[in-house]
Amino acid sequence: MKDGKKSVSEIGKNDPVNKCRAALRQGPGKMECVTITKPELIEGKVLIRVLHVGICGSDIARVKDPDKKWDKVVLGHEAVGEVEEISKSASAGSLLKKGDRVAIIPLVPCRKCYFCLKGMHSSCKSYSFIGSRVNGALSDYLMVEPTNLLKLPEDDNIEKYTFLEPLTVALHAIYQTDIKFGKTAVVFGAGAIGLLLFQVLKNLANYEVIMVDIDKFKLGLARKLGSFHNVDLTNESLEEYIKENIDSAGVDTIFEVSGANEARTGAIQVSKPGGSIVLIGTSPKDTIFDAKTFELITRKELKLTGSWMSYSGPFPGREWETGIKILKNNLIDIDTLITQRYKLSSVSAAFKMILENDEKYCKVLINI
Ligand SMILES: [Zn+2]
Ligand SMILES: [Zn+2]
Repeated sequence: MKDGKKSVSEIGKNDPVNKCRAALRQGPGKMECVTITKPELIEGKVLIRVLHVGICGSDIARVKDPDKKWDKVVLGHEAVGEVEEISKSASAGSLLKKGDRVAIIPLVPCRKCYFCLKGMHSSCKSYSFIGSRVNGALSDYLMVEPTNLLKLPEDDNIEKYTFLEPLTVALHAIYQTDIKFGKTAVVFGAGAIGLLLFQVLKNLANYEVIMVDIDKFKLGLARKLGSFHNVDLTNESLEEYIKENIDSAGVDTIFEVSGANEARTGAIQVSKPGGSIVLIGTSPKDTIFDAKTFELITRKELKLTGSWMSYSGPFPGREWETGIKILKNNLIDIDTLITQRYKLSSVSAAFKMILENDEKYCKVLINI
């Protein structure tokens, strides 16, 4: 293999102890399990033996990206593991000890800039990020600072905590709104984040939620999770559906996770006067509004809010505290969201399945 890396089948054959396995991109669209140098514990840090990693949409975008920088960094930021080794200063400054089960908090803010001091860590001017700017969790081992770890409660199911990070993204978006029991909401995009939003809104705040997508498989998952209102935009009008089944004036809150132009214009059209729209995540394409739709923002006095990552002050924020409790108390269904599981040694097959659309999927987990 190129660059002197060994394929997984060669591991264990006379390998020195300071080697471990990791998923590393071998050019756009090609992931492989290779051997890398095992991170050696340094002062102030904690060495984690990784157990489970969820594949995020952002990981998939990085694997596809023509930029060669993604060949040099280990991806993966939705992860849980076990403390393998802890440096003296890290153990003095935290309550962590060897054997603790932990979830990874991927953002590494500078903690010094204006925005960090205000608790707006997602707007930090010089942040790092585990799994994109520094090596991430798709590996046997990961070395991080103790502030990037959250100790998990006693629980037989550790795997479900891989959903902590995506759940905090959903919670951060909900915290952007004026949340009150029994409101109406639309969620555009029934992927993992959309289905987490749906469950939190319905199960914890008694919202009447309309799930919207163009993918029958995803809407099927929503139905399986107990969603009653599911609109397939390929053959239904959301405006008509809401008028007939919810409220002729529109809905209170709209969460836009799909990134699609139709969803963003649709959000403005179906929002009640005075309603709020939360836009979540990246914009892969241009968003174009016609004059009439755009004017609805002013006429209806809509509140448009962005939601970026999942942090608040004090770091990492209430999203993480709440997320842990929701998972610990099994208030949402995680099993239905996990559609495939692969071993790290089969990571190339996992990404091949995803990139070539061989199977329908929601969340793909890699078990290390
Ligand atoms: Zn993610
Ligand atoms: Zn900062």
